[in-house]
Amino acid sequence: MRKSLPPKPRSWVVTGGSRGFGRAIAEHAAAKGDRVAILARNGNVEAVAREIGDTVVGIRADITRPDELRAAAERLAADWGHIDVLVNNAGLHRGGLVDQIAEEDWQAVLSTNLSGPFGMIRAVLPHMGAGGSIVNVGAVVGFRGFPGDSAYGASKAGLAGLTQVLAVELARRQIRVNLVVPGFVSTEMTAGIDEKARKKLHQRIPMRREGRPEEIAEVVWWVAGSTYMTGSVITTDGGLSCAL
Ligand code: NAP
Repeated sequence: MRKSLPPKPRSWVVTGGSRGFGRAIAEHAAAKGDRVAILARNGNVEAVAREIGDTVVGIRADITRPDELRAAAERLAADWGHIDVLVNNAGLHRGGLVDQIAEEDWQAVLSTNLSGPFGMIRAVLPHMGAGGSIVNVGAVVGFRGFPGDSAYGASKAGLAGLTQVLAVELARRQIRVNLVVPGFVSTEMTAGIDEKARKKLHQRIPMRREGRPEEIAEVVWWVAGSTYMTGSVITTDGGLSCAL
């Protein structure tokens, strides 16, 4: 039975790898010598992959479409032989108080942030052997109440539950499953927050600043390769969740 990660280069699948954390995670893994597939819906994903490097491939796939995820995983397994690391990073934020959020926004957030990782894991598992590693990207608001985040918070809390169940289910196959939990990080997802709200958020973060995508990527890299860590929740939030 293999107890450590497969030898290098490892093969990574990073959902939502076209920008934000996903891109930073792909860049980090590629810089360390691994090969990476980044998945996203928009056409620029192939160009982003080329920008990152020769060992990176971009695939257009919608995380809410299990058929597209299966096709992507099968293509990668045919090219690489196996998939070693899956990072479930693609995510969607839509806010609104519970009596105001549109039903379709609730569904879109749950489909993307919870059913998406479930579908991706099912697509990848047939091609992942002992030593495989799954890193899910959660959020502080999956553990702490933030008004207006009913859909987003519920989806990320669900992902935390999925992480723990699968850590136990997949341990017998020597596949590890962990959850990295960022706080407030500068990306396109948070770009729309106005200056006043942003300043208020900074006041709630003990380190008094937003995180950078590279800071999350470094943690994901380390978690992906930690051979005795499974079912863990790794918070990376400048102290935000301690102070809420
Ligand atoms: P982002 O800049 O908005 O990037 C989201 C990525 O997900 C993009 O590559 C996007 O590409 C992809 N994506 C969205 N919907 C998709 C779908 N249906 N199918 C395939 N790909 C899809 O977000 P981010 O800030 O980097 O966030 C990355 C992850 O961290 C998310 O799970 C988010 O919830 C989580 N997070 C973020 C923060 C933060 O402060 N930024 C904090 C905590 C947790 P396409 O649009 O081309 O599909």
